[in-house]
Amino acid sequence: GRVDNPYAGAKVYVNPEWSAKAAAEPGGDRIADQPTGVWLDRIAAINGVNGGMGLRDHLDAALEQKGSGELVVQLVIYNLPGRDCSALASNGELGPTEIDRYKTEYIDPIAAILADPKYASLRIVNTIEIDSLPNLVTNAGGRPTATPQCDTMKANGNYVKGVGYALNKLGNVANVYNYVDAGHHGWIGWDDNFGASADVIKQAATAEGATVDDVHGFITNTANYSALKENNFTIDDSVNGTSVRQSKWVDWNRYVDELSFAQAFRNELVSKGFNSGIGMLIDTSRNGWGGAARPAGPGPRTSVDAYVDGGRYDRRIHPGNWCNQSGAGLGERPQANPAAGIDAYVWMKPPGESDGASKEIPNNEGKGFDRMCDPTYEGNVRNGNNPSGALANAPLSGHWFSAQFQELMKNAYPPL
Ligand code: BGC
Repeated sequence: GRVDNPYAGAKVYVNPEWSAKAAAEPGGDRIADQPTGVWLDRIAAINGVNGGMGLRDHLDAALEQKGSGELVVQLVIYNLPGRDCSALASNGELGPTEIDRYKTEYIDPIAAILADPKYASLRIVNTIEIDSLPNLVTNAGGRPTATPQCDTMKANGNYVKGVGYALNKLGNVANVYNYVDAGHHGWIGWDDNFGASADVIKQAATAEGATVDDVHGFITNTANYSALKENNFTIDDSVNGTSVRQSKWVDWNRYVDELSFAQAFRNELVSKGFNSGIGMLIDTSRNGWGGAARPAGPGPRTSVDAYVDGGRYDRRIHPGNWCNQSGAGLGERPQANPAAGIDAYVWMKPPGESDGASKEIPNNEGKGFDRMCDPTYEGNVRNGNNPSGALANAPLSGHWFSAQFQELMKNAYPPL
């Protein structure tokens, strides 16, 4: 049977391919032995791309790392039809209608490999479809932030069906632990998005034969950079009678950081019918916000904006900025049971892998050029029409970006 928290008492798989890239960077040996997610970001990744490791290679290597103890392997299931409907940087190989290919050419072969009895002693954590379901709430259906692509995925139901199918098939494997993506506080922490996102996740978790028992928990912050805990202000503070919720930065959100959001969203999901034992994962690969710009204490109480902006660790221009953020640092090192309701802090997004290209780069991965990755871009309605805050000269999403890796180490918090 499954344990309550697969991370408890277990080592976590170190991806040798990521580890080698990290170790080859100046100073990279300080983190090269950290566990990171293995992204199955296209059908070909199951067997390995360009001579690289495929899923069986990783699981075989995981058995070696395991030895006689317990070991978690972290996989990212990431290939929905019409992927990345609100942006362009991580569009994938499957068009909006290709749900059958998703099932038969992607999920079924993965499920068959995971079910091989050879791998029964591994604790296999699958994080399911980062950055997908909440788009059906926030970026569709007549909202000012809607995109035609997300409207299409809402109308055809293929995000909901795809996630349901993945949960059902992968959940049939006894040693698999499914964690569904739950966005991040700077996306679904607003009242309009919070309960509605939980509803659409519940809908997906009961589609295509899946049940809530196929869901072991949820993961937040993989698609973003939100600080784990802002110690210099809380959502309940006010300045001269004005709530921090009215600051430009918080902008009526109910949460100021990822830990408080993850704990509250966990309760919301339980109230919608998910099991009371579910646990959250928080991705801390890029949310450290250390370095010289980290505030040492609260901002001045001259205005609510001065107070929040002076005290916040998160140095982004806007919380809607998501691509290769300048000033970002490595966050908490991966660890089990860090806080109530949280199964682990994880580095699911491998530090040093780009979020998207800063200019058009021809490719056969389906990836487009999203101007949120262009440092000269002045923004759109999803980031309050602010500059993108992205680093320059970035390669395609998923490709190694040395300058970002160095930035993350430089601004690590806790420091390296
Ligand atoms: C990319 C994937 C990549 C993943 C991890 C995503 O943004 O689209 O191709 O595997 O990041 O770096």
